[in-house]
Amino acid sequence: MDYKAANQLQDLQYFGEYGGVNPSISDSSTYTFLSAKTMFDTFEGNTEGCYLYSRHSSPSNLYLGEALAAMEGTETANVYGSGMGAITSVIMQLCDTGDHIVSSRTIYGGTYAFLKNFLNRFNIGVSFADSTSVEHIENAITPKTKMIYCESVSNPLLEVADIAALAKLAKKHGISLVVDNTFAPLSVPAARLGADIVIHSLTKFINGTSDCVAGVVCGSKDFCLSLKDVNHGAGMLLGSTLDSLRAASILKNMRTLHIRMKKHSENALYLAQKFETDGLSVVYPGLSSHPGHEVFKTQMNSVYGYGGLLTLDVGSLEKANALMELMQDRKLGYLAVSLGFYKTLFSAPGTSTSSEIPLEEQQKMGLGNGLIRFSIGLDDDIERTYVLMKACMAYLEILGRHISRTVL
Ligand code: PLP
Repeated sequence: MDYKAANQLQDLQYFGEYGGVNPSISDSSTYTFLSAKTMFDTFEGNTEGCYLYSRHSSPSNLYLGEALAAMEGTETANVYGSGMGAITSVIMQLCDTGDHIVSSRTIYGGTYAFLKNFLNRFNIGVSFADSTSVEHIENAITPKTKMIYCESVSNPLLEVADIAALAKLAKKHGISLVVDNTFAPLSVPAARLGADIVIHSLTKFINGTSDCVAGVVCGSKDFCLSLKDVNHGAGMLLGSTLDSLRAASILKNMRTLHIRMKKHSENALYLAQKFETDGLSVVYPGLSSHPGHEVFKTQMNSVYGYGGLLTLDVGSLEKANALMELMQDRKLGYLAVSLGFYKTLFSAPGTSTSSEIPLEEQQKMGLGNGLIRFSIGLDDDIERTYVLMKACMAYLEILGRHISRTVL
């Protein structure tokens, strides 16, 4: 499938306030009105093109939102101060007291914690189901269900959701399909496949420089406007606002996203294939051995590949820690959470990004404590990286004891 997502980004062209090739950065929290009547109308939501206050919207944030909407192919998009700011705004906007959500059971730990531990304060029920099975998801739907929530490629297990099938199911039940597409920007055209709302943590691949946190909600004009409503909008009222200076820098970084995604994917596929040939427990959606490979293949924008994330299960937390520390010492990347950086990042999700998920549930979903999540970087010479990674593994093997220097 080829949705030519990048071509729409390619067409974006700016003439800044002074003819600059970058839009001018808006550096104001508040805006003047030439008449009091226009100010009133703007607060009532009856005017277009007027800014009232930067928590509501700002020119720089709108520019970034437009670029992200072009990328996802939605009518519009609102940017937020973090991925969690985007996720929580969407959920609080769609759900009322007494409503119910069906969520994938393998999702980012922060989202899982919000759904499981926070929403009960509002009497919003959540059922966790296996999002790789449309049947499991359908069985969890009740008359009170308002939305299906999943990640296109899940954190950290890299399960692949069949978005077109889930969209059909959501339509059948008259509910919304919300997809977090953070792991697969450009690769998985979630909105074009039928997702009603697509969220990204911009913190990751889209910004790509690990220097800020930000998020986006891509959707219809009506939904994005409702999020901004001064009386009832969760985005406006919860206040997870992105700063204009950051919005401007993310917009500039986005211009190389298509090149970076191709390289992240190429490098990750190379390592995954090598590790698999070596008999290691590697999981990567680009491998035909991956249970979601065929689904990914049919829904992907093929030029961008299968993404930059892979996992390797080395058997125990001690071994995982020893390997990660050694790889960091050998300058192969950083022992750090997050993803989408130019350097490879690795962490053990069971004790970091998924630690919010109780141990017995981690085990049930197949998240072993020896699992290392790799966000593969933009290494120019990935063959050398492979050789050095293998040397780290061999060294630890020879050492015969995989005791981490860190006592957890
Ligand atoms: N969604 C996914 C898939 C993530 O991995 C993360 C963070 O790791 C988030 C959302 C949250 O994003 P942020 O950290 O920008 O709030």
